[in-house]
Amino acid sequence: MLNCPHHISWVRPVEGGLHQCILCTQVVTKKDVYPKLEDLTEELRRRWDAHEATRPAPAPPSPPEKPGSGS
Ligand SMILES: [Zn+2]
Repeated sequence: MLNCPHHISWVRPVEGGLHQCILCTQVVTKKDVYPKLEDLTEELRRRWDAHEATRPAPAPPSPPEKPGSGS
């Protein structure tokens, strides 16, 4: 059942600066929503961007632990 158009009225901001469609529970991007964000009001776009900006930077990969070091 992935024929969900992710209508903008079903899309909610969720934790991590992401947006989720409450109907199909998929995380969606600007390109996934219907109608396109470009066709919506500027206020909506601004809110989307503002929420997206709260996304935390990806954590740097932790260096692999070297066994046998030390002691
Ligand atoms: Zn959806």
